Amino acid sequence: MADRSAHFVTRREFIASTGAALASAAVARAAQSSRYTLIIKGGRVIDPAARVDAVRDVAIAGGRIAAIGPSISADAADMIDAHGKLVVPGLLDIHTHVGRYAEGPQLVLQDGVTGWIDAGSQGADHIADTIATARSSPQQGRILINIGRAGILPEGDTMDLARADVSAAREAISKNRDFIAGVKARLSRDVAGPNDFEVLRRAQEVASSFGLPVMIHMGQTITPLARLFPLLKRGDVVTHMFAPPPNSIIDDSGKIEPAVIAARQRGVWFDVGNGQNGHIRWDTVEAIIKARFWPDTFSTDWNTNSRQTGVIDLPNCMSKLLGYGMTVPDAVARATINASRIFPVFKDRGTLKVGAPADIAVLELRDGNFEFLDNYKGTITGRQRFFPSATVLAGKRITRT
Ligand SMILES: [Zn+2]
Repeated sequence: MADRSAHFVTRREFIASTGAALASAAVARAAQSSRYTLIIKGGRVIDPAARVDAVRDVAIAGGRIAAIGPSISADAADMIDAHGKLVVPGLLDIHTHVGRYAEGPQLVLQDGVTGWIDAGSQGADHIADTIATARSSPQQGRILINIGRAGILPEGDTMDLARADVSAAREAISKNRDFIAGVKARLSRDVAGPNDFEVLRRAQEVASSFGLPVMIHMGQTITPLARLFPLLKRGDVVTHMFAPPPNSIIDDSGKIEPAVIAARQRGVWFDVGNGQNGHIRWDTVEAIIKARFWPDTFSTDWNTNSRQTGVIDLPNCMSKLLGYGMTVPDAVARATINASRIFPVFKDRGTLKVGAPADIAVLELRDGNFEFLDNYKGTITGRQRFFPSATVLAGKRITRT
């Protein structure tokens, strides 16, 4: 009988195996009931990349979008009730100064921003500071290196042309390829003075050796755009596109400058870059929209003062053209899928397609009378405004503080 256990199941073994079967059934049930880690229920899902604009449930598992449907009844570990709210891809802000502040990434995350670009806060000399913020950011953050090696300076980044140092910028990029996503050239007369053309030429010299885009800060340049814009290549970004004259993108007769149209036709992107000084004036906005030259992206030019100024947050900036006839899905596209096409780090973001990383912004679209500020104390009144409500990053709900 030495080999009995090989042929007969003893009572003890029977109990053990039954217990195991029961336990594994329980595990299977638990797995079934929490097949999803999170379900966002009943919101108006707007995913311009998938041409979705409908009331849907969104189910998440493994940090990714697992299912979208009219009614997903499975249980989930967590649930967000989004009835009456918008559920959109996590917002991508391509012009911020988040990298300047250790707490920056967390602050914008609460506004629904699940990806950010720091646009030139630092140059080669102190690039490690902004890269440290990007490295520790919970959401994806990348840096545009300022061609001015000392970064943003009150006296003007490249007023001293020697600061536009090609070899210093190249060296900084080669050491930080994983976090530097492009080169920033700030060209206004109080930043680059008469050096604007040469500063842009040098920025391109740096960027082209790495296949990176250049973002220019336009507005009130000394050199006309007709001379500056031919230096822009496909994939580059013009920020502050609503900057008033001198040298705005539209002439006095209401025509978009030919160099601007040519730039867009060869694949240069046009970004809002809301900011606080010299970048937006309502009459210029109105003329540009009348000429049907819509922005490709919204961005805040965010810093820690934003909440106390006309910027407030990215959802507020996204609201400003609704009164000029931009649709809600078009506004969402400009802060999601459009931005994802500009920087490769966001390649799989900006959409809620099944399989995409579950970065999601839940927004409220409120009706009322909302005052929107330009950078010249001008106001317009809008009838609708987006407000942040909840953020989901990699499938996890972010706690608002
Ligand atoms: Zn900026």
